[in-house]
Amino acid sequence: MTIVVDAARCVGSGTRMAIAPDRFEFDDEDRSRPIAETVEEDTGVRTAVDMCPTQAITIRRTTADAPGAKADTR
Ligand code: SF4
Repeated sequence: MTIVVDAARCVGSGTRMAIAPDRFEFDDEDRSRPIAETVEEDTGVRTAVDMCPTQAITIRRTTADAPGAKADTR
């Protein structure tokens, strides 16, 4: 799956850093960005999506994750 953070929605709360510190980092403007866009799905990433106060994080499943599955944007 891929992780996308909408910088326009991110307020730099750091919530996802506490939940999945190995998946996200701050950029120079204190906005979240994924360390790697393509990752294996895990509970931390899914929880970060659910806990983000501005719903800035989106995960997209790829055909490599589940052949034939529809893309999931939230
Ligand atoms: S939890 Fe959401 S708003 Fe907070 S830093 Fe992460 S992406 Fe930005």
